[in-house]
Formats: sequence, C-alpha cells, structure tokens
Amino acid sequence: MSILLGVIADDYTGASDVANVLRQNGLRTVQTIGVPEAGLALPETDAVVVSLKSRSVPAELAVSLSLSAEAWLRAQGAGHVMFKICSTFDSTDAGNIGPVTDALRARAGGGPVLVNPAFPETGRSVFQGHLFVNGVPLHESPLRDHPLNPMRDSNLVRVLRRQSASPVGLIPFDVVERGADAVCDALAAVPEAGSAIADAVAARHLDVLGEAALRGPLSTGASGLGAGLARALVRTRARRHDTDPAAPALADAPGDGAAAILAGSCSAATRRQIDAAAAGGIACHRLDVARLLEGGRQAVVDDALAWAASQDRTVLIASSDTPDAVRAMQQAHGGAEAGHAVEQALADIAERLVAGGLRRLVVAGGETSGAVVDRLGIRAFSVGGEIAPGVPVLRSLAGAGPALSMALKSGNFGGEDFFLRALSMLG
Ligand code: ADP
Repeated sequence: MSILLGVIADDYTGASDVANVLRQNGLRTVQTIGVPEAGLALPETDAVVVSLKSRSVPAELAVSLSLSAEAWLRAQGAGHVMFKICSTFDSTDAGNIGPVTDALRARAGGGPVLVNPAFPETGRSVFQGHLFVNGVPLHESPLRDHPLNPMRDSNLVRVLRRQSASPVGLIPFDVVERGADAVCDALAAVPEAGSAIADAVAARHLDVLGEAALRGPLSTGASGLGAGLARALVRTRARRHDTDPAAPALADAPGDGAAAILAGSCSAATRRQIDAAAAGGIACHRLDVARLLEGGRQAVVDDALAWAASQDRTVLIASSDTPDAVRAMQQAHGGAEAGHAVEQALADIAERLVAGGLRRLVVAGGETSGAVVDRLGIRAFSVGGEIAPGVPVLRSLAGAGPALSMALKSGNFGGEDFFLRALSMLG
C-alpha cells in the first residue's frame, strides 16, 4: 500500500484537527501517535498524520522528531509531506517552524517551500503576509499574550525570517488569484530556493495553494492547506477514475460497551459542556483536586473509580474548575506541577477504566488528551466522522493498543452539546 499524503503534526489535537479536515475533504486518513514502530499494519488509506509533541520543545529536538516522521512517511510512499503547524503560527524567534521547514527542505532535495497557515473558514487569513485572527492582526489578538509563544508580530515573512537559515519571500494575493501556475512561478523565484509565505483570504485560495504545493515534495501549513491538498488530490484521482472520492470512510462502526468522559480542560467551553452533560442525564463526579495535589492522588483516583463502578449509566469525571480556583491551585503547587499531577490522575483513571472493559472514551483538553493517549499506549487511529469542527471520531487500529472509540477535544472546541453528541457518534 502506498499513501498519497503524509502530514507531520506538531501536537496531538492539531493532528486530529488536520486528520478531520483531510477526511472531510475526501481522503481516508489514519492518525498515528508518534512515529510508528516497525511492524504496525496500516489499513488501506490515503493519508497518514503523524502526531508529535514538537511545538514547544527545543528546535533541535523538533527537527530530529520531524525528520524521523518524514522518513517513515516517505517509506509509506508519501509523494508530498506537509508539516502541520498551528493556524496562529505558534512559535518563538528560535523556532520551531523555520528550523523544521529548513531541515525537511534539505531532506527533500532543497526546493522552495510554500508556507501558509490560513484557514478562512475558521477565521484565519493571510493578506500581504500578515496573519489575521478573526479579523484582528495576530499581534492584537489574544495570541499576543500566549503563555508559551506570545505572538507580537503579525508579519509572517518577518517572523519566519527570524527563525530560518534560508530566505523567506511573499506570494501576494494578486499572484494567488492568478492560479497555481502563477504561484509555482513565484515560488521558483524565491532566492536560494527558500520559503514563501502565501496569502489566502478565501477557501478558493487554499485550492490554488494545495494544487501548487502538490507539485513539490513539501509544504508547511495549517489545516486549511491540508484541505487544499486533499481537494487537489481528490480532483486528480477523480480524473483517473481509480478511486471513488465520495467514499473515503474507514470503518465507522460504533464501539459498544461502557462509555466515559474525562475532562481536564478548564476552558469556559468545556465547563459549559460539563453542565450540559449533567443536565442531559450523565452522572458527573468532580475530582478533589486540592487533595490530589497534597499527595492524595491514589486515594482520589480510587474514589473516582469506586464512584464510577456504582453508576449504571455513562459517567463524566472532571477536574475542570473556574479560573480563580485553578489559579489558587497553581499558586499553591506550581502551574506545571499542578497540571502534570492532574493529567496523570486522569490518565490513571483512563487506564483502569479500560483495563475494566471500557471501550468508548471522550477526553477534553489538549494536554489531558496527550497524557491519556500516551498512557493507554494507543499507537494509531483510523479517522471517522466529524463530531464538531476539529474533532473526529477516532478508532484505534488493530494491533495498535486497546480497541477503543475515542474523541480527543481541545478545550475550546465544540458546542454545548459536545459530550452528548460525541457519545452518540461513538456508538
Ligand atoms: P485545554 O485544551 O483547555 O488547554 P489542557 O488539558 O491542554 O486543556 O490543559 C488544562 C491543564 O489544566 C492541564 O494541565 C490540567 O491538568 C490542568 N488542570 C485541570 N484541572 C485543574 C485544576 N482544577 N486545577 C489546576 N490545574 C488543572
């Protein structure tokens, strides 16, 4: 089996987001957790998204992880590899978008690389190289104060130049409007075959950029460019009549058995979703986070599991709390330490529920999802239907860990009925 498209994603929930977009745009898609070990049997699939945790690690580590993902994807036959970044270009002046793009370019033979984080349908557009987030320049958006990667410059040409060893050019709006040939000519004109930030303010621009990018081996972009690449691939295959682009689904059969929801996100959206789940008849249990952080992890986990065992309906176990309560815990125990301890407690609970036969699991929170998936030892998922934008149904592949249907939700994603909707779609 040879895949058409490989994606290297710099975090897990971003990986699910692009996997969802690829599948929604007609590609059968598998999401792996890390670079698969030799011997993982992939089903027949069009695209594979390798999920890394490389967004906020030192640049050398991000480069080495990304190069091993690239080598694996090329070995599966990927003619094009996209490095999937955040649509808000999360990075510091030290990287990692520039260093990883430079290293992947060198590996792919040194040609110019198209870079585009736009996704107009979700409010991310690029005009004259400047990134706008919901109509506001990046440096005036809430990303200005991001705790890890504060974005203080909306000019992505400048941002990428500061992190790249090679030149960075601009493919402006009027060139993109003229189509894929014009974009390729502009890309070829970048000095020393460097990178070029491309403008995109409408979905049709992503189609142009996807078609242009596919003529080379490598691109860097967010889920929007993934959509453009997927649509371009599907158009090509439709012309060749060798696959039915309307039938992209891998197995979508619902799982059966007990279900649970674990929430570690404290976002306003997740807290509203918890309230809606409780009102919808789901049994809810709040972890005693203060006790957990005072050395009581084992007891808090045992209590939660004993409570879950006494319920005869779907359970929701949450550490989620208000910003004031979270701040108090962080002040008392340290932000990173508190976060890690809560994530590990939820991972303990997930591990024991699955050991007890649970087969359907919804997890809320990006870091929380990472901790749970890592603990469960799941190596790869097939990507199913969309629960909410950015959140697909995931089913673990045979031989890649316990058999589970899952949804991994970044804190802010999904409407109020997200948990009820996820449970109905997981089966
Ligand atoms: P999101 O996707 O909303 O950012 P994450 O899971 O990535 O959610 O991050 C939430 C962080 O908050 C995790 O590290 C989690 O362990 C931590 N956390 C959850 N509940 C609490 C709490 N009650 N007090 C302090 N930290 C918490």
